[in-house]
Amino acid sequence: MPDPTGTAGPEQPLTRGGARAWAVAVAARRGVDASEVSEVVVDGYADDPAGGYAFRFGRLLLVAGRDGSHAVRVDPGDEPGRRDVVLRAWERSARDPVPVPPRHLGAHQRAALAALRLGVRRVAAVPVQQRPGVGLVELPGAEWILMMLRQFHPLGAPTVLQAAAHLEEAEALRRVPAPDPPIHPCPVCRGVAPWSRAHPRTVCRDCARTTRCDHGRLVEGRVDAGATLVATHQDDGSTCEDTTAGGAVSVAAWPAVLTATRSGGVVVQASPRPVNAADDLAMLAAARDLTELLTEVTGLAAPPLPAWTAGPFDDGDAEEHLWRLAEHLVDEVADAWSADHRTADPDAVRRAVAHLLDPSLA
Ligand SMILES: [Zn+2]
Ligand SMILES: [Zn+2]
Repeated sequence: MPDPTGTAGPEQPLTRGGARAWAVAVAARRGVDASEVSEVVVDGYADDPAGGYAFRFGRLLLVAGRDGSHAVRVDPGDEPGRRDVVLRAWERSARDPVPVPPRHLGAHQRAALAALRLGVRRVAAVPVQQRPGVGLVELPGAEWILMMLRQFHPLGAPTVLQAAAHLEEAEALRRVPAPDPPIHPCPVCRGVAPWSRAHPRTVCRDCARTTRCDHGRLVEGRVDAGATLVATHQDDGSTCEDTTAGGAVSVAAWPAVLTATRSGGVVVQASPRPVNAADDLAMLAAARDLTELLTEVTGLAAPPLPAWTAGPFDDGDAEEHLWRLAEHLVDEVADAWSADHRTADPDAVRRAVAHLLDPSLA
């Protein structure tokens, strides 16, 4: 909900429109018309991750930082003076990147909030300087907190302030998370998805919302009193007999299946895409997919593919070869990182990298 008085600051993640709406709300509270609000442009400020937007009206200058900071100042009255005010705010954001989250939150929680602030879908995508205390070993826990912070929000997109407020209420999310939380990369979109040994191919919440039956209609599964799956069409609430019978659905055109879980929930699992080991190009594409995924989940450069990636694989077991490749890539990334970070425990680093790629590898 936008705050009509502007007292809570602009919406996060910050946009030019959101910053202007905040400035207009502050102006309205002082009886100043929106037409009097104008932007103060300082080169580079709007584009920098530690930057933001500045607006002025009457005798006031308003600065909204992408880090969630916001301030109402007296307008110095000329361009060099305004520039100075903005530069000071910019400098502070660059030096002290996450002022919004309460100081008592741990590194994992602050890193997850930084991901929301920057509008990226993984903590791994937050620049390392902006997530102090979260290296490879802490990354799985921070990704789990990010997933949980998105899950409580009806649209999966809380603002930093909403997420920080949720952290105040959710005691379990304020603790130091386990190093091996139940998450994995979504098999469809690579976002952070829930994982369990029983349901290792579960898609993320965003993808699950796009589940369609063979009729092409959005469906939702639930478990009835007899502990069996019932799939209903979201448009009119009617039961989809086909999906209820077999569970077959699709997620963004991927074949998938709805499954009732033991705890009475329903999970959407993407079906594996079979790779033919005799098809060299298909094997190479699958290998490249794996390196891309590793880069995305760790935020680190991909190691080169080993020579044996190109095959031939006479035994025809594509899965086994891709598994070996995954282990090799995990070792490479973990070794390179450990060499640069001598204080980290190499075993813990390797486990974390494996866990990020696929918990069954760890
Ligand atoms: Zn997904
Ligand atoms: Zn249907």
